[in-house]
Amino acid sequence: MSGSALFETFVRAPLAFDHGEGTWLVTDKGERYLDFAGGIAVNSLGYSHPHLVAALTEQAAKLWHVSNLYEIPGQSRLGERLADASFADKVFFTNSGAEALECAIKTARRYHFVKGHPERYRTITFEGAFHGRTLATIAAGGQYKYLEGFGPKVDGFDQVGFDDIDAAEKAITPETAAILIEPVQGEGGIRQVPTQSLKRLRQLCDQHGLLLIFDEVQCGVGRTGKLFAHEWAGVTPDLMAVAKGIGGGFPMGACLATDEAAVGMTAGVHGTTFGGNPLAMAVGNAVLDVVLEEGFLEDVRRKALLLKQGLAGVADEFPDVIESIRGTGLMLGLKCAMPNTKVTVALRDQHLLTVPAGDNVIRLLPPLTVTDAEIHEALERIRAGAKSLADAIVAAAAK
Ligand SMILES: *Cc1c(COP(=O)(O)O)cnc(C)c1O
Repeated sequence: MSGSALFETFVRAPLAFDHGEGTWLVTDKGERYLDFAGGIAVNSLGYSHPHLVAALTEQAAKLWHVSNLYEIPGQSRLGERLADASFADKVFFTNSGAEALECAIKTARRYHFVKGHPERYRTITFEGAFHGRTLATIAAGGQYKYLEGFGPKVDGFDQVGFDDIDAAEKAITPETAAILIEPVQGEGGIRQVPTQSLKRLRQLCDQHGLLLIFDEVQCGVGRTGKLFAHEWAGVTPDLMAVAKGIGGGFPMGACLATDEAAVGMTAGVHGTTFGGNPLAMAVGNAVLDVVLEEGFLEDVRRKALLLKQGLAGVADEFPDVIESIRGTGLMLGLKCAMPNTKVTVALRDQHLLTVPAGDNVIRLLPPLTVTDAEIHEALERIRAGAKSLADAIVAAAAK
């Protein structure tokens, strides 16, 4: 065996964390890092949130797993709460985002199948999308770097340019079943789809009898300051995939659907062993308790503005490092004027964690519970990191 026993699929930073407290991660050596990566938008309520810890440990002492052969009260309750808080009537629980997408894609295909149109199975997607790493979701995402070497691309996905709604309209054929889009692209580089475009997609779907699928795996569950990002546009989908933040760090996902869209998902046609297990449901319900609390999302919006305004100031100060600020809510991007990986490392040197994304962007995805003081602290660290990089440019030019 050479090196580690793990697959070499991840390029890992040389850091191992022992525990976390709120927005902070502490290494095995006791060093503290301010975490604006949030486990890539997963740790929506930070680390060791007392309400989440209590929900998980209480459930752990009672029951972990029973299988979906039986009623799971926590699952029924979380399903109802998600439906009440959204466009949806029905929910299917999964363990991950990719599985939630798989469920949405299958549900759209089954819908047309039971309506007498088995030929309608294709889904239109957008450049820069990320929908997961299963065979179908890499085909949906359409990114060559994820498809290469994995055999024939799963059939049934047609990709058009980012925010190119005219191209999406032209791509509709008698075989089209659905249009799939992230209202705010995460991995693609914090690229927000304009409200007008989401409205046009809704119209196109209605006009052509297609299902509109939103992937809110990253932008959902309060991240943008509304429970779901599409609420800002006043447009609702027929199907939606959710994961990441809904579990607050416990692996879980969900596919939400209207009654009509879920019409083909009858007994036995789809399933999961672990999806909707009692542990995940206890945590998911606890996350909703907090996020749906009066004033919580309003405070996320206020803090988001504070962070975004501060970032704009830093970008003005160091234009050779940060070109511009983008994004919405606590899903913000720094478009870098130098390789984003360099900036990520410079910020890590300041003990601030961030996540690189496509389009040479760095993502800031702090927990929704981040405090004003932590936002100020993060801005100081970003300023210090940007200054060290800017100073290095000046020093190099002087040589
Ligand atoms: C992370 C992500 C996924 C995939 O989720 P996994 O839990 O890694 O399978 C899908 N869509 C979006 C938008 C994501 O950010």
